[in-house]
This record gives sequence, structure tokens and C-alpha cells, in this order.
Amino acid sequence: MNQNFFQTPIDYLKGVGPNRAGLLRKELGIHTYQDLMHLFPSRYLDRTKYYKISQLQRTNAEVQVIGKITHIKTVQQKSGKRLVATFIDESGKMELVWFRGQKWIQENLKLNKAYVIFGKTNWFNGLFSMPHPEMELLEVHEKNIRSAMQAVYPSTEMLNSKGISNRVLNTLMQTLFLESKNKVTETLSKSMLEELQLISKSEALFNIHFPQNQSLLSSAQYRLKFEELFYIQLQLLRKNLLHKSKIKGYSFTKVGGYFNTFFKEHLPFNLTSAQKKVIKEIRHDLGSNAQMNRLLQGDVGSGKTIVALMSILIALDNGFQACLMAPTEILSVQHYNGLSLLCNELNISISLLTGSTKTSSRKKIHENLENGNLQVLIGTHALLEDKVKFKNLGLAIIDEQHRFGVAQRSKLWHKNELPPNVLVMTATPIPRTLAMSVYGDLDISVIDELPPGRKAIKTVHRFDSNRLNVFKFIRDEVSKGRQVYIVYPLIQESEVLDYKDLMDGYESISRDFPLPNYQISIVHGKMKPADKEFEMNRFIKGETNIMVATTVIEVGVDVPNASVMIVESAERFGLSQLHQLRGRVGRGAEQSYCILMTSHKLSADAKTRLETMVKTSDGFEIAEVDLRLRGPGDLMGTQQSGVLNLRIADIIKDHEILKIARSYARQVLTSDPSLSSIENQAIKSTFIQLVKYKNIWNYIS
Ligand code: ADP
Ligand code: MG
Repeated sequence: MNQNFFQTPIDYLKGVGPNRAGLLRKELGIHTYQDLMHLFPSRYLDRTKYYKISQLQRTNAEVQVIGKITHIKTVQQKSGKRLVATFIDESGKMELVWFRGQKWIQENLKLNKAYVIFGKTNWFNGLFSMPHPEMELLEVHEKNIRSAMQAVYPSTEMLNSKGISNRVLNTLMQTLFLESKNKVTETLSKSMLEELQLISKSEALFNIHFPQNQSLLSSAQYRLKFEELFYIQLQLLRKNLLHKSKIKGYSFTKVGGYFNTFFKEHLPFNLTSAQKKVIKEIRHDLGSNAQMNRLLQGDVGSGKTIVALMSILIALDNGFQACLMAPTEILSVQHYNGLSLLCNELNISISLLTGSTKTSSRKKIHENLENGNLQVLIGTHALLEDKVKFKNLGLAIIDEQHRFGVAQRSKLWHKNELPPNVLVMTATPIPRTLAMSVYGDLDISVIDELPPGRKAIKTVHRFDSNRLNVFKFIRDEVSKGRQVYIVYPLIQESEVLDYKDLMDGYESISRDFPLPNYQISIVHGKMKPADKEFEMNRFIKGETNIMVATTVIEVGVDVPNASVMIVESAERFGLSQLHQLRGRVGRGAEQSYCILMTSHKLSADAKTRLETMVKTSDGFEIAEVDLRLRGPGDLMGTQQSGVLNLRIADIIKDHEILKIARSYARQVLTSDPSLSSIENQAIKSTFIQLVKYKNIWNYIS
């Protein structure tokens, strides 16, 4: 861009003047010519063209189609009725939908007569649908005159009331384009334009504001979205590189006896290729001089534990200590037992530290930790206490990261000379799209493959009225020797009520599954840790058939013989929680089941959650839906939501573009870190301008 020209204050544009300039600044954040040029239309009115149904694209534009209605039906919904008409032309079929004014429409619409319809289309269930279309009989329509395709800009009440209408914005944009003729310079490299078949920057800007047709509009949108995401990624990845060159960490230069012996002699199964890939990535990080800061994402049951262990062994091979921190006592114990078993013959000193560790053993642990006799410490928050001092903590692994804050984590290494390498493991996948945008500066490893031989868990949704059948099913499974979880919600705000639900449920289950044929465990938050532990262990050992619980069993607990997960009031759980709960079963060789029980009263979101659970077991897909339902702010904690302040790209809808943008950004930085090649000059100067004029900081906090 010719920056001198584009940084001209908006006041100087013909037709703007001080009043309008003030309003544009205040209402739309437009300070300069550049800002105005990047005010992208939110939609378009296109009455220049008649589309065939088969030509419709997902551009968010309004379109005009000629066709006829073949039938109309009323669809009953919880939230009311909707009227759905099937609309066809010779190329295909779509739907017209009304939520209001249905009676009038039903009475006046003529079947099998040619209509011109106009409106926005949605893509839904494999069909385009148009809610509340403008409609006109073709014979009437042909007598009218239409204007060209027109951009509709985001506006505010204030702007409208002060006379800055959409037409005014259009006129200003025209003025700007006339004045800026030939001043728009290319911002991407030639090879990128060629490889990705992107249209030029100036053509894209022109067509985003004055689209000549739908296909050029589509190309313009693609090009500008790509550019936006590319520069964000470039910035994030560069930050990552800087971080790596600045934050020194312990370098584990060798892979030694522990790792090799384990790998050659004690590996209990063949690693999946995803596990191998991830271990390789971690090894690479650990071998470098920079501190590792890696997020390991892997669905429940994908086998993160072995990855953790092998990372620990590398630390030990280099004479360092390692720790593993888990969010609950039960999980810590399981990790402790699991890891102790795995490295049984490696002669490693490994201890468990939790809230219930006795004072005498606690003292010993503290001592051995400080003098270096203890190599591996596993535990809960107890690891964060001031008294816990490592001699040389080289690797900290944190399981289920969402429960620990960053500040808390750094407490772990307050005594260290350098920060230890950090591996955060999570089974709650952060949607790839979001992770890429938010954590461009954090390295991510993904185990995207389950160990072989797992049977897919069958998931169904059942209404409470079906309870008898569900109970019969439980009986059948228990008679086959299987174990069953029955989980009740526990939401803080209604704790008392929830507790009552749980107890009522427990009583009724005890009646339906009486002693001595059935043994039932119950675990909830109000029990003493020791009692909880006791009950949990009875279930783990197979002494009880049914475990009635609140969500304390949500994370990590491993009982391979449990094959049925029943979630009561499933409509009250979030998607990621449901997915976590389901992950408690399907850990053994048997076919497993997840039954989501609900009442008949379901909100639209709850329905989507249940449908998603029934439809897929892919944690990433579930996370994407969750993101769509809850919004990124909720998912990530509020501080990051500013990251999603994009001008034209949509973090959810455009994740394919994001992937490409990210890989190009990486490619550019790898081959030319200082952007000094001739090929990359356009990128370099754009990047400098973006940083200089702070445009990029909008996205990155
Ligand atoms: P998560 O990722 O949920 O922590 P775990 O590490 O607990 O998963 O592994 C789940 C189960 O799968 C464990 O019983 C573990 O022994 C087993 N497992 C892990 N990796 C493999 C593999 N490559 N082949 C066979 N079984 C495996
Ligand atoms: Mg685990």
C-alpha cells in the first residue's frame, strides 16, 4: 500500500468534512483512508442476476432465484411452528422458511407458479434454505426495474440518524476508489498468488466493495480472508520464534538408559504412529536450548500416559527430576499406580504427594526431593506448596490443564534456576481453529488416533419415560459381568437441589437393583476424601456393579470393565463434559454404551449437544460444535476473545483457509526468517506497516 496516501485522515476525503469524520471515527473506528477501505460490507444486495439453485454459494450474499413451489408443510417445533416450502427450478431444490405470518403466506402462495424469490440463503442439512424471502410472481417482476449489486455496510443507529446512510457510505467508497486509483499495492508474494490462485489485492478490494458478480466476490472474500489470517499467523509464529531464541531452558541432550531400556524391553504395546510422532516432537523440543512449552492434545483413551512417561524418562536420562500434576486425588493415584507399574523394572524412585499424604511421609518426600534422591513426583495441587522444593526439576507435566491457572503452574519452579520444560496434556481438545489462532505461540502436538482394536462407543439419547428399558439394559450388562456408571449433574448454583437429585436417584436405583445381587457405589463431592477413595476403589476392583456419582469421575478414571455410561439430566451438561464422561467407558475390549437421559423439555442448544454426541465421537469435532454454541470467549476464558476480532475471516467457518494461511506463514518464516528475499518484499513491507500502524495488534493482546 502507498502508506502516505492511505494514512490520510478521513477528514480530507471529498464529502466527509469534520462532522462526518467525527462520526465515522466514533461509530465505526474509521480514522484514515485505509480504515475506510477496510470497512468490509456485511452483505450485498444482488438483483442483477438470477441464480440457478445449483449455482448458489455460501457467500452470505442475498440472491435472486426463479422457480416454483411444489409443496408447503408445517413443521412443529418446541419453539413454535414453522412453515417450510419446497422450491425448485430445473437445476435443483431448496427450501423457503417462515417463522411468522404463516397463515397469510399459506393462503396466498400459489403452488406451481413461477416466482422470483430474493433473500439470504443458509446452508443447512445439505440444502440451501431462505428464511422469509421477498417474493414476487415472475410476471409481475418482469415489469420492474432493478438496481445493480450493492454493498451493505455495517452501520449504527447513530450514523443512520445523522444521515450517514448506506448510500452515503457507498458514495464515499466510490470517491475513495477514484482517488486511490493505482495506489493499492500488492501485499502477498507472487508465488503465493500463483499457487493459491488468489486475485490481486487491488482487484480484491475493488470487488469486495463493488462486486462485478458473485464469483468475483467470492474470490475477493477468499483473498482478503487469506491475507488477514496469514498476517495474524505470521505475527504469532514470529513471536514463537522470538520466544524460542529468548527463553532458555534445560536442554536434554541425550536419550539414555532409562528411555532405551524401556523402549526396547518394557513397552507394553506397539505405539500408535500418532504417539510416535508426538514423542518425536517432544524429544526434539527437549533437545533444544529453548524451554519446551507444548500442549499435548489427545482424546480420552488416545494414550497420553505413555507419552508422558517417555518424556519423563528423557528427563531422568539427563539427570533431572520430573513431576506430573493432576487435578484430583483419584487421578493422581491412578497416574502413580500406572506409571509405577510401567517402570517397575527400571529402578526409578517415584512418589505420590496429595492432600492426604501423611505428615511423616510428606516430610520424607520433601527431603528426598531437595537432595535429589527422589526422581519423579506425582500428585495434586499439593505439589504447588512452598515446602515442595525440587533439586533440579527439568520437566513438569500437567494433566488436564484447564484446572490449573498459569500463575499456579509457575509456582512449581520458583526454586529453579531456569524454567523446566513444560508439557500440558489435555483431553478436552481446543478446536484446532482456535488453538491455531490463539496459541500460534504455543507448540501443539496432537494424538489423533486411538490405539487399535477399540470398539466405537454406541451413544443413544433416551427420554426419562424410557427408563424401564434403560434399567433392563443395565441388568443385562451387569449379568454379563460389566460395570455401569450413572452420573448426575452437579452445578454449583443449584448444589442443594442437585444433591437431592443424586440421593433420590441413588435410592431409586438401590430399589431397582437390590442387594445382594447388585452392589452399588456412590461418590459425590460432599464425602470425605477417604470415603470417596474407598468407594471408588471398590468399583475399580470390580466389587461393585454400579457407580452412582456426580461429575467427580469426569476426568481420567480408568476402569476397563465399565461398559455403560448413563448420564442423567444430560441436557444440563456441556458438550465437553459429556464427551469426557463418555470417555470413561470403551476402555476395555467389550462393546460400550453411553446413554444420555433427558426430559422432553429441551432447548435448541441442548438438542444440538445431544445430537452431536450421538453423531460423533471425534473430540475435535465436538469441540468445534461447542465453540459454535458457546462462543470462543466462554471456551477459552474471556481474556483471549479479543483475538477473534477479525475484519473479514470467521474463525469457525474459515478454518480451512486458516490452515493454509498458517502453513504458508510457517513456510515463509522457515525459509526466510528475516523476510529479506526479493520474493518476500511485499510481505515484509506489509508486515512492517501493520505493526507500525498497530493494525495487527487488534488481534493479538
Ligand atoms: P489418555 O490419553 O486418556 O490418558 P491413557 O494413556 O490412559 O489414555 O491410555 C488409555 C488406554 O489405552 C490405557 O489402558 C493404555 O494402556 C492403552 N494404550 C495406550 N496406548 C496404546 C497403544 N499404542 N496400544 C494399545 N493400547 C494402548
Ligand atoms: Mg489420562
